[in-house]
Amino acid sequence: MSLGEFDLITRYFKLLDKSAPESGVALGIGDDCAILDVPDGYQLAVTTDSLVSGVHFFEDVCPYRLGYKSLAVNLSDLAAMGAEPKWVSLAITLPTVDEQWLSEFSRGFFELADKHNIRLIGGDTTKGPLSITVSAKGIVPRNKALLRSGAQVGDLICVSGTLGNGGVGLAHKIDALALNNATAFIDALELTEPRNQLGALLTNYASSCIDISDGLMQDLQHILKASHCSAHIEIEKLPLSAAMQDEICAQTITAEQAARYALTGGDDYELLFTINPASYSALQSQNSVLPVTVIGVVTEENSAQKVKLLQAGETVVLQAGGWDHFKKNK
Ligand SMILES: [Mg+2]
Repeated sequence: MSLGEFDLITRYFKLLDKSAPESGVALGIGDDCAILDVPDGYQLAVTTDSLVSGVHFFEDVCPYRLGYKSLAVNLSDLAAMGAEPKWVSLAITLPTVDEQWLSEFSRGFFELADKHNIRLIGGDTTKGPLSITVSAKGIVPRNKALLRSGAQVGDLICVSGTLGNGGVGLAHKIDALALNNATAFIDALELTEPRNQLGALLTNYASSCIDISDGLMQDLQHILKASHCSAHIEIEKLPLSAAMQDEICAQTITAEQAARYALTGGDDYELLFTINPASYSALQSQNSVLPVTVIGVVTEENSAQKVKLLQAGETVVLQAGGWDHFKKNK
C-alpha cells in the first residue's frame, strides 16, 4: 500500500469526524482504544456487520453508496433494539489504495453518520479483497431494549414503511428487470433509511422487534422462535410503495410477485414488531415518525406451521423462504 494504515485513517476519516465533548467520547481515534462514557441509567448496545464484495454488494458498487449502506445496516440493528446510535468503528480491507474511492466511501459514510450525530471512534485498514466491517454502538434506557423474545399470543404484528422495494432493487441489479421506477428500487436497496427514531419510540410500546434484513418471513421466524409463538399474516395488508403499485398497474410486476418480494425479498430494513392492541392505539397517538401497518396477529405456537399466510381469508402457501447466507453458500 502506498499509504500507511495510520495515514489512511487520519486522511479520510479522523479529519471528518466532528467529535464534541457532549458526544460521550472521552478519548477518540489515535490511542490503542477509544474511551466512551455511557450515561447513567443506560445500557450499551453493540452490533457488528461485515459486507464482503461479491457476496453482500456488487464489485462495481458506487463507493459513496457502499459507505452509506455499510453504516445504515448497522444502525438498523440498533433501531431494532430501540437503541440510540452514538459511536461507530470501521475496518476496511482494500486490494489497493484508491484515494478517489476512499474519499467517496468516506463521504457516504459520514453523510449518514452526521445525520444521526454518530462519532467515529476507531478504524483499521488492511490489504486484501474488498470488505467492510462496521461496529455500531448505541445506548438504550436500562432494561428497555426491544428483544425478539417478548411477543405474546394476541399481539398485533406490524411493520414500518413499505415492503419489497429492496428485493426488487436487488433483482433488478441481477436480472435488469423492465421497470418504470428502477431508480426508486435501486435507491431503496442502496440508500437504506434506518428506522432509529421509530425504534426508540417503540421501547415504550412494542413487545418484540427485529429489522427486516433477510425478508419478512425469515425475520418473523426469529421472533416466533424466540417467543415460542406462531403467526397469521394477511397478504392483502402488506404495505407496498407507490413505485411498486405503479409497476403492478403497468403489469411490469404482478400482484403475486409484489407479495413475494414483500414477504421474502429482504434488504428492506424496516422494523417488524409485535404489540398488544391497547399499546398499538397508544403508539399511533404518539407516532408522527412514519407509517406503521398491522399485517397480522401472533397465535398459539404451532410447530408444524409457524407462519400461516392468508389471502381473502384462505390459507395460501409460499414456496422458499428469504435469503439465508449459510444455507445459500452450502
Ligand atoms: Mg438485524
